[in-house]
Amino acid sequence: MRKVYLDHNATTPVHPEVKGAIAPFLSEMFGNPSSIHWAGRGVRKAVEDARQEIAAFFGCQPLEIVFTSSGTESDNLAIKGIAYRKGNAGKHMITSAVEHPAVINTCKFLEAQGYRVTYAPVNRQGIVEPDSVRRAIAKDTILVSIMHANNETGCIMPVAEIGRIAREAGVLMHTDAVQAAGKIPIDWKELPADLLTFSGHKVNGLKGIGGLIARKGIEMEAVLHGGHQERGRRGGTENVMGIVAMGKAFSLLREGMTEEVRETRRLRDKFEKALFERIPDLVLNGHPTERLPNTVNISFRFVEGEAMLLNLDMVGIACSSGSACTSGSLEASPILMAMGADPVDAQGALRFSLGRGNTDEEIEYAVDATEAIVDKLRAMSPLFRREAKAR
Ligand code: PLP
Repeated sequence: MRKVYLDHNATTPVHPEVKGAIAPFLSEMFGNPSSIHWAGRGVRKAVEDARQEIAAFFGCQPLEIVFTSSGTESDNLAIKGIAYRKGNAGKHMITSAVEHPAVINTCKFLEAQGYRVTYAPVNRQGIVEPDSVRRAIAKDTILVSIMHANNETGCIMPVAEIGRIAREAGVLMHTDAVQAAGKIPIDWKELPADLLTFSGHKVNGLKGIGGLIARKGIEMEAVLHGGHQERGRRGGTENVMGIVAMGKAFSLLREGMTEEVRETRRLRDKFEKALFERIPDLVLNGHPTERLPNTVNISFRFVEGEAMLLNLDMVGIACSSGSACTSGSLEASPILMAMGADPVDAQGALRFSLGRGNTDEEIEYAVDATEAIVDKLRAMSPLFRREAKAR
């Protein structure tokens, strides 16, 4: 069966050059980076080289990077780490209604421990309005955590403006840049943020590796207590292969990101345009322009997202309804509900996310298949037939 992968926001295939870079770590480069003998020294160098590559990508200092097991752990470390370190200095945080569960559920956990959390709303186009953050800041606010770009809609948040607001109020700012990193430019030197989360498997690296940039001087409590790795900020022997892979992935992006993004955007725009031209009754979920160049989220009115997903899978097309973490539940996406989407339309939403390796031919195949499946499902939909009669 033909296979077309349009779910790069869920995860990405490993880059061939990443595979090459990690091969020695399955054989002779087996040492523990904390060992001071020959077996450890070369591995320590590889870890620190990767840290430098990633620092060069973001424009931060290598020492500002803490390696973790995932984007999820980085979000936990940023939010709990600041909350616990601040102690009684304040118990209020601000986040948004459309964060990834790694942020939302960490905030919920802290709420159960007596913290107050304000969930800033998004507008109809899925964007957090800086004024709503400004209004929510209280005397005891310790952290603002607003994602750089949303995983389901691709909406890009005004994090620079929100960061400036937080800074003026003397509040720390964290941004979850798991989806933004590698898709839009991020310059840590210019970004008024104190903490930034990234993950390896969204950028053609490996799963189970992530990082947190913590601006020099920012102190957080460790979430994983153990050895002195990562300068005491995260105990545990480093995931050397994951780190080397992530270093390679970001160094490849530093060289080729502009070209890759241009190509992905061209294909995404072609896909989106063709769907809207050929299929009636579609709703674009998210901002028309303030959006990641690889993502399009569409409600196919009068059909069910899960049915679409399964039918597309049957012809080899991988995409997603809701996020990968919420698919499997039949509830409408909380992200689309927070945007004020019609609940029935939200049930018919699909996210297509393109990436490295997609081709024109694949896009044409996916458009044809999607059109045929929508036609088939709508022909069976009483709702659609009633609507068609009324027109
Ligand atoms: N934050 C966002 C915005 C994400 O999209 C994801 C993954 O989908 C995560 C955090 C979690 O990252 P990881 O899968 O590395 O735990």
